Amino acid sequence: MSSNKNLQFESKCVHAGIGEYEFGSVVPPIYQTSTFKFENAAHGAKLFKGEEDGFIYTRLKNPTIEAMENAVADLEDGYKALGCASGMAAISTVFAGLLKQGDHVVCTNSVYGPTLILLKNFFTKFGVESVFVDTDNLEHVEAAIKPNTKMIYVESPANPVISVTDIAAVSKLAHANKAFMVVDNTFMSPALQKPLNLGADISLHSMTKFLNGHADVVAGIIVVKDEEMYSLLRKTLSMFGGVIDPFNSFLVHRGLKTLSIRIEKHCENALLVAQYLENHPKVQWVKYPGLKSHPQYELGLRQHAGPGGMISFEVTGGIKGGEITMNSVKLCQLAVSLGGVESLIQHPASMTHSGMSKEDREAAGITDGLVRLSVGIENAKDIIDDLEQALAKVEVPIESKVN
Ligand SMILES: *Cc1c(COP(=O)(O)O)cnc(C)c1O
Repeated sequence: MSSNKNLQFESKCVHAGIGEYEFGSVVPPIYQTSTFKFENAAHGAKLFKGEEDGFIYTRLKNPTIEAMENAVADLEDGYKALGCASGMAAISTVFAGLLKQGDHVVCTNSVYGPTLILLKNFFTKFGVESVFVDTDNLEHVEAAIKPNTKMIYVESPANPVISVTDIAAVSKLAHANKAFMVVDNTFMSPALQKPLNLGADISLHSMTKFLNGHADVVAGIIVVKDEEMYSLLRKTLSMFGGVIDPFNSFLVHRGLKTLSIRIEKHCENALLVAQYLENHPKVQWVKYPGLKSHPQYELGLRQHAGPGGMISFEVTGGIKGGEITMNSVKLCQLAVSLGGVESLIQHPASMTHSGMSKEDREAAGITDGLVRLSVGIENAKDIIDDLEQALAKVEVPIESKVN
């Protein structure tokens, strides 16, 4: 791989992970192969012993996957990265690699639903206990730490209430307790937030979202700071088997080239949409880190290079108002997932977070009427016009608007 260390982020997006290829190919070829021929028996033996670098079998290592991994590691200012079959494969690999019986995890309470379920319903089977707190409150994080806390797992901004955790401050708390600090950076991407530079040990992603950016791949990645962590997690990933495949790696690597320019447009559009919604009489509240009304607006200015593309808001009339809005949009697609070029709208209480109990949802601020919007890169006016015609259909007395 060529050295890109001195390039600016936009240039890195275009060039990261790209090497020299046969026939002068400008992009990495897709090595769609499960296995690699050895030159002879001795060569195969050397590769297996680790005495020589090379390729054996795609679950272990593949050139197309490696190129994408190098690209993401470069963008996150990490040491190396591990491509996974999904965001959940990345998350479960990190848990499986770093936690053992008797360990305790402190986790953001409004974390991605399946992450909570993984800890609560599966890792408890292996004797790992977890507590879920609003990690945007440092005192609550500190109070939740126990002598056996081995990991603090933070999602910031947290899905779907868009609450922002102070990653540098929580990293300090984690390290003071000799615990690992893991950040789910899916919502921001390295274009806006680099957790490793803020003190985290691991930054991970669902690449299904902003990194790939085109709603056509399910994939994940783990980015680490040093060789020790890399080799531990590589062994875990190879054994548990949740690796990404070459074709999806190729697609993600292709998506990365436009990451900086896409994110710029996501931020620009989302701010306009958030401002529009905040002034709409049928919208009770809007959560977006780029609005001064956001509780962690100041922290966001320090921690993020931009406020991102994710907005949540509550339509007057609770669940009914939200339903009418979602059934009336035309340009915005009614679908879960986020971070693609197209605007997507969804209802967490009945969709992404329906696996959580109502109690857990309420503790995490996920009200029944909350609508989540992933603002795409269309023209902002078209997105706003679409919301305008949809909100016009919400027939709720203006008096019911709170404050
Ligand atoms: C989507 C998502 C995940 C899970 O990723 P998959 O690729 O769907 O497995 C994890 N964390 C966050 C914040 C997500 O948005």
